[in-house]
Amino acid sequence: KKAIPSDIEIAQRADMKPIVEIAAQLGLTEEDVELYGKVKAKIAPGVWNRIKTRTDGKLILVTAISPTPAGEGKSTVTVGLGQALNRIEKKAVVALREPSLGPSMGIKGGAAGGGYSQVLPMEDINLHFTGDFHAVTSAHNAISAVIDNHIHQGNRLQIDPRRVVWKRVMDLNDRALRNVVVGLGGKAHGMPREDGFDITVASELMAILCLAADLDDLKERIGRILVAYTFSGKPITVAELGVAGAATLLLKDALRPNLVQTLENTPAFIHGGPFANIAHGCNSLMATRFALKLSEYTVTEAGFGADLGAEKFLHIKSRIGGLRPDVAVIVATVRALKMHGGVPKDRLKEPDVEALGRGMTNLERHAETMANFGLPFVVALNRFHTDSAEELEALERWCREKGFPFALCEVWEHGGAGGEALAREVVRLTESGENRFQFLYETDQPIRSKISRIARSVYGASGVTYTPQAEKQIAECEANGWGELPICMAKTQYSLSDDPALLGRPEDFTLHVREVRPSVGAGFLVALTGDMLTMPGLPKKPAALDMDIDKEGRVYGLF
Ligand code: ADP
Repeated sequence: KKAIPSDIEIAQRADMKPIVEIAAQLGLTEEDVELYGKVKAKIAPGVWNRIKTRTDGKLILVTAISPTPAGEGKSTVTVGLGQALNRIEKKAVVALREPSLGPSMGIKGGAAGGGYSQVLPMEDINLHFTGDFHAVTSAHNAISAVIDNHIHQGNRLQIDPRRVVWKRVMDLNDRALRNVVVGLGGKAHGMPREDGFDITVASELMAILCLAADLDDLKERIGRILVAYTFSGKPITVAELGVAGAATLLLKDALRPNLVQTLENTPAFIHGGPFANIAHGCNSLMATRFALKLSEYTVTEAGFGADLGAEKFLHIKSRIGGLRPDVAVIVATVRALKMHGGVPKDRLKEPDVEALGRGMTNLERHAETMANFGLPFVVALNRFHTDSAEELEALERWCREKGFPFALCEVWEHGGAGGEALAREVVRLTESGENRFQFLYETDQPIRSKISRIARSVYGASGVTYTPQAEKQIAECEANGWGELPICMAKTQYSLSDDPALLGRPEDFTLHVREVRPSVGAGFLVALTGDMLTMPGLPKKPAALDMDIDKEGRVYGLF
């Protein structure tokens, strides 16, 4: 079999169209876009008002089984499905998250799809792109600077320096900054206090940017952010510090969706990128809305597996944005299912139908979740070269027996042509009239009952326990009037339970809620189970070691 070139080699050989031509495919004129070079653009102000009364196209949510180190290829399938829909004469747009620089320099690799299903220009998308993340970083740290200055200048609001919950951020993996002390050097240099850095994608501003409907809504939400408590325990917000306007101003361009294209010139919105654990992990609501107005089919992706990404897409983003998804695509790979069935990473190349059978229970659980939401779904098997014919057959047979729609997906190797079967299945499901979409909880339920509903109906837990700290925080949230916010579960992505080692479909387990933190601006309560790292570290051999650029400006090592 001929070797497939690396992602970056394929991307560099691609035939990109000027972005104005891609915009024209969407019915947008040159005035409707603001160019960032020749192949990137932001949607100009004013376009929304013109298109907002149009009917929405169909919304396709791409999600996956619980991720494993074997890789699932959700972004690849999202891009490939968009291309495939266009090939079968449907107007489709892809809507993805922007990658974070931290993981790109670390281990994850880029997040622009792969093989013959990528978004372009991948070098830019994986590096600074249109500067959105830098804007979020600046806006976030501007608030931090104002907090420390406020304390230094007399502390009128009586902020307790020990209870500043607004950390600083940076878009890099840098574990040495997790815990720092600021304000050292004496009286002229501020009030010493413990602080720390999170990665930019963990900033509440990133979540807000991705849920805001417009500039006004953005400002309102930023104003509501809880940054600190006073000595007497009263919450202090950004609005009270007086900088909601300044922070919004710094985000005015970042709020506007970015338009690029795929390898097959399918339009793609790439915008926003909140963490999928302490935040909701989807691209921006604005980008999704633009895509829905400008195309027949919007293919979008949510982070991690269906227990986290899809659940939050449905309960948080869809609820806040009034979206009504039409179909879910559950991406699975033979390799990952075998890992769920107990095969170690270095033995994934060997065919093992029995292990595959054990691992399918993970897929089954996620499929049941989509059914609980009343959402039609299709299992997309993202094919790897190493998959054996008997394994592929076994999976397809199993799906047929369960009554799960199934499509083999070869978009990594063949681009859109490898996704036509999936595209047809998706179109069929959108037209099937089987959509009974409903939320699994209502926001006016008590906090514990919302968490319990997710734990039982999505994870398959038999119950939930709370630490005394979580109990206290729940009481505080209710007392402060935040009890009716939706829940953002922060749980390991590797297991349906809160123990990353429990693969497959764990049964009879309890979910342990350690903390409940309000993200009042974003508009959700984060329920933390286990330790969540909000500033990742670099691995022993960071991806950065392979990156380079030559004197002609040719880029190397970006996957
Ligand atoms: P996810 O969105 O689930 O994190 P990506 O789509 O980013 O996954 O894919 C992760 C990596 O796996 C990429 O480098 C991509 O090129 C590779 N990949 C995806 N699908 C395949 C496949 N079918 N065969 C080989 N490599 C693949």
